[in-house]
Parts: sequence; C-alpha cells; structure tokens
Amino acid sequence: MPKPVIFSIDDDSSVLNSIERDLRAKYGADYRILPINSGKTALEYLKKMEQRNETVALFLVDQRMPEMSGTEFLAEAMKNHPQAKRVLLTAYADTQAAIDSINEVRLDYYLMKPWHPPNERLYPILDDLLEDWKAHVRMPYEGIRVAGTLWSLSSHQVKDFLTRHQIPYQWLDIEKDSNAQKLVEGVSAETKLPVIFFPDGKTLIEPDLKELAEKVGLQTQAGLPFYDITIIGSGPAGLAAAVYAGSEGYKCLVIEKAAPGGQAGSSPKIENYLGFPSGISGDDLTRRAVSQAKRFGVEILSAQEAVQVAVKDSYRIVKLNDGTEISSHAVLIATGASFHMLKMPGADSLTGAGIYYGAAYTEAMNYKDCDVFVVGGANSAAQGAIYLSQFASKVTVLIRGHEPTASKYLVDAMQANKKIEMLTDTDLLEVKGNNTLEQITIKNTKTNETQTCDAAALFVFIGVRPQSQMVADLVMCSDKGYIFTGPDVMKDKKPPFDKLRTTPPGWTLERDPFLLETSTPGIFAAGDVRYGTNHRVASAVGEGAIAYALMKEYLKGL
Ligand SMILES: Cc1cc2nc3c(=O)[nH]c(=O)nc-3n(C[C@H](O)[C@H](O)[C@H](O)COP(=O)(O)OP(=O)(O)OC[C@H]3O[C@@H](n4cnc5c(N)ncnc54)[C@H](O)[C@@H]3O)c2cc1C
Repeated sequence: MPKPVIFSIDDDSSVLNSIERDLRAKYGADYRILPINSGKTALEYLKKMEQRNETVALFLVDQRMPEMSGTEFLAEAMKNHPQAKRVLLTAYADTQAAIDSINEVRLDYYLMKPWHPPNERLYPILDDLLEDWKAHVRMPYEGIRVAGTLWSLSSHQVKDFLTRHQIPYQWLDIEKDSNAQKLVEGVSAETKLPVIFFPDGKTLIEPDLKELAEKVGLQTQAGLPFYDITIIGSGPAGLAAAVYAGSEGYKCLVIEKAAPGGQAGSSPKIENYLGFPSGISGDDLTRRAVSQAKRFGVEILSAQEAVQVAVKDSYRIVKLNDGTEISSHAVLIATGASFHMLKMPGADSLTGAGIYYGAAYTEAMNYKDCDVFVVGGANSAAQGAIYLSQFASKVTVLIRGHEPTASKYLVDAMQANKKIEMLTDTDLLEVKGNNTLEQITIKNTKTNETQTCDAAALFVFIGVRPQSQMVADLVMCSDKGYIFTGPDVMKDKKPPFDKLRTTPPGWTLERDPFLLETSTPGIFAAGDVRYGTNHRVASAVGEGAIAYALMKEYLKGL
C-alpha cells in the first residue's frame, strides 16, 4: 500500500526546504513528504493522487501566499480529502485569519513561525494530529467485516460496540449486497445475524458482547484478586477518577458494561469542554482518556456489567453479571444515566430497526439522503440533529416544549442549517412499521392537529434516568434513583451528625460522610448518577477527580 502523504505548501523556498527537512527527519519513514510551492499546483497534484487512490494524512500550509491563501487552499482541498488534518503556518500578523479559519475550514491547528526547535514546537502537535488521523482514517479494507441487516437489533448492537471501542470494521448490508449475502450463507445456514468475519478467517455469529470483546482483544476479566479502588462506569467521571488513581500508584479497576466514554462518547462534538476551542468529539476525548488511564496501569474491563455492590468488613465487593466478584477497599459509582425509552406500542420491537437511542454516531451514515426524525430538544438531541444533517436529506426535530432547551450555540446552529426543521409543541404519538420503522404520527399540542409522516429513522434523546440499580438496596437515593452523597445523606441535609445515626442505617464511622461519599462508608458516587449534579462533561470529570481525592482520604483512614 502506498505511504499516506503529508503536503507542505509554501511559496517561500527557504521556508519550504526547512519544513521539508524537519518533516522528512521525523515522518519520512511512514509518510511521503510532498513539498509544493503554490496552492494551485498542489490542487492539480491532488487530482492526480485521487486517480491513483492515494491518501492524504495532513496538509501543512502557509497562510500568506500569492494567488491563493492557505485558507482558500484548504477550503478547496477538504472537499475531496475531508479526513486529512489541516494545519496553517502563520506569522504573528495572520493570527486572526487563523482563528477565523477554525470554523471556516475546520482547521485543526495553527502553527506560528518559526517552529524551531521542532522537537518542542512542531512534532508534538503533528504527532497528536497524525495519531488522531490514523485512528479514524478508512484505508482500503483489510479488517473486521460485519454482515447483517439495517433492521436487526443485534447488528446495531455489534456495530455500536465496535464503533464505541473505536475498532474499525466494514459494514456489509446483506439486503443490498448480494456478495455479502453469499458470504453469510457460506458460514451460516440459520438466519442469525450479524455474522462477523475476522482477518484471521474466524467468524462469530450473533455473539454476545462479551464474546465479541474477548475476540477483539479487549480485557473482560480482572487481572488481580484485589484492588484499592474499583470504579463502576467508564464515562468522563469514572475515567477522570481512574486517571488520578492510576497516576498516584493505586491499584484501580474500571468496570464497563458497554464501551468506554459513556454518554459523552456518543457525542459527535463537545464544544463547551475547556481547552478545545474547535470542539472535540466524544470518541476522541474517550480515546485520549482511556490511553491516559491505561498508561498509568489502570485495568478497564469491557462488556461486564456490575449487578450488585455489597459490604463485607472493610471490603467492598462488586458482583458482575457473569458471577465474578471483585474485592476492593473503595468503590466509585460512576454509572451515569441512560435515555428514557419510548413507551408506546411497537417501539420496543423497532428498537435497532429504525429507532435508536442516542446512537446518531453509529447509524447516521446508513441514512444518507433519507428523511429522519430526532425526538428531544436538549443539547444531546441538537448535537444528534446537526450530525445527522451531514448525511440525511432532512432532519425534523420533535420538541415537546415551546422552544428547544439546548444551549444557544446549538440552537443557532440548527436554525442556520437548511436541512433541519424544528417542530415545537409537538408530541410523538405513534410509531409504525413491520420489520423496520416506516411512519410516525405526531401531534401539535397547540392546534391539536395530528400528522402521519414517512420516517426512515427516529433518533431518541428524551430525558435520562440514573443507572443506580446495583446499589439501590445499599445507599440512599432520591425517588428518581439519583444517589445522595455528602450533605444530602444527612437528615435535614445538615449536621448535627447524630441525626444521621437514625438514617441511613449502617453508618458506623465517627465522622460525617465525605462530600461525594454515599450513605455507606467507602462507597462514593460521581457524575450524572449523583443527586444534584449538572449533567455536563466538565462536571463529571471534576467530580471524578474530587471523588478520587476523597477515596484517597478514606483509604488512608483504614
Ligand atoms: C449525545 C450527548 C451529547 C452530549 N453533549 C454534551 C456536551 O456537548 N457538553 C457537555 O458538557 N455534556 C454533554 N453531554 C452530557 C455528558 O455527556 C454527561 O453529562 C456525561 O457523560 C456524564 O458522565 P458520567 O461519567 O457521569 O456518566 P456517563 O457518561 O453516562 O457514563 C457512565 C458509564 O457507566 C456505564 N455503566 C452504567 N451502568 C453500569 C453497570 N451496572 N456496570 C458497568 N458499567 C455501567 C455506562 O455504560 C457508561 O459508559 C452529552 C450527552 C449526550 C448523551
């Protein structure tokens, strides 16, 4: 396979030579370095490369060039190379142009001249971008293939699992591809789907997620008999706590029933998380956090659900759905929240067959040029709608209230998007379809008018409920199942401590619960599962970090 290309474009030959030398020294072994002295020549060259099916990994372009500026070049080049990373080389005077182009050409970075020493000012940035590019690029296919139908729930679950673990795969729709149909018939006489083909020639037929996780090399069993800290849930809260615990040398295990990243992992673009001015996708954030945690020695189990937490002397025991018991001194419940399911006839059987919960990422491209619907008016629904509009011909957003509750920047983006229509004061009444979703009926609650519309897919983002079932008998929770911590577990929410002795039972220590400690000593909660949290990535990360500090205090006192 030809090496992917790094373009460097600059009209100043001395700068071009210098950047070429630096690029070649570091990346020459893995990439073809292509120095070109004008944007127009580079565009012509790109056309030839497209005919040869060559891949561009990165454009490093000077902003100030005669004929065509760096930004103008990138705007053209990204049409056929949307996956390539885009970096502008700027002088101090061009900083504003670079900032403007963050949105205009979805710029990944702007580098100030001079970039010396490259070890400090060039390579770390390009390393990061190229790693990211490698994680997402689709090279000519040699990996895992998943064959199934769009309307099969188990096919959707497998695709979602692989996508959320950032394991590349090729989707083969056996209803549209007769070769794929033959491939499936070749291994299975039954109608079980999906069939997963692996590069080593092995296949799995309609596997459960644990079987799949093991086959793709994910950890599903704990490596040690005992941990200092066990964290249930690997969303932002769990991963933040894990990074801190691992970095300070604690033996830490994270248990995840699905895939790392939690709800944040399903966000196409998080734009309000500190430090990422052009936004970061949930899977990028997750990939970075998982590598960070693993680098510090944290073990992360995938496809393992914690079903119960129990207390035995100073040990906290987490029971998994396969019967395994994990023992540790402290446990953090960071299990977040899951979307409410639609409660109407037919909705269950069409789940995964046109109705999806928070899965815009995984399924969006299967609905290219189709009319799809989004239910919900908050941030997650708005992000889903914006992401879907890149593929669908029309996205209709059904909002029960008078107006969307999403953040202003998202509402503005929806309003500016010609493919998105927002229907406020609108209730979803009915979903219809045989094997797959075909139609929905909606009602305008102001006029009482009902309407039935053809719908290829319905992406549901309606409210969330906390996932606290595994500790429901052990710790105090609100009526809705959010876990009380710190002051909230105290009767009347305030000291004196002796009031606490009556409720909850089982509190034996001579101190108040720590801020994020539940009503059972040594069991902590952080993030969306906790009562009083504000359902944001940054809050979950912050709570995870604080929970770790408090668990450390707890461990010291044992
Ligand atoms: C589509 C979408 C877009 C969003 N966009 C933004 C945004 O732009 N900005 C922002 O600030 N916030 C955003 N949010 C909200 C943000 O993602 C959440 O507030 C945040 O993810 C909460 O983190 P958490 O770690 O508490 O829980 P979660 O992210 O919910 O993670 C909990 C994890 O625990 C796992 N788990 C649950 N039960 C068990 C069990 N029994 N055993 C093992 N594992 C279990 C789950 O599978 C999950 O992976 C968005 C949410 C969604 C859904």
